[in-house]
Amino acid sequence: MPEAKTTEAKTPQAKTTQAQDKVIKSDEQWRHELSPMQYAVLREKATERPFSGEYEHERRAGTYVCAGCGNVLFESDTKFDSGCGWPSFTQPALESHINEQTDASHGMIRTEVLCAKCSGHLGHVFPDGPTPTGLRYCINSAALRLKPK
Ligand SMILES: [Zn+2]
Repeated sequence: MPEAKTTEAKTPQAKTTQAQDKVIKSDEQWRHELSPMQYAVLREKATERPFSGEYEHERRAGTYVCAGCGNVLFESDTKFDSGCGWPSFTQPALESHINEQTDASHGMIRTEVLCAKCSGHLGHVFPDGPTPTGLRYCINSAALRLKPK
């Protein structure tokens, strides 16, 4: 009679996605750590007034990270002057660092851009950008923090 196998794997498969370092915090923690404007944008999907954000005309070279969790989001060399009133980029620093989902709010169908790490709302992406991607990542300054080079 064969012995019952007792070697069933007990350790779960190592996760290979970036989900393992997701940043999950309570509403209270976020309110404590973020400025009211950062909280409104990142956690409540607010949009800052156009031409009001601190990075709209930013020209310094560097890396834009998430204001909520520090995740690398955009490089300054993909930033361009779109005239739309918000910092605009042609592509994310790393595709895996952002999530995109359909947003049907405000009577429009748009593509929302979120931080893949803390799920914070960043802005929207539109298909009217310049070459090489043809995309315009329209991002709230309040969702970003520039780390100058
Ligand atoms: Zn984040």
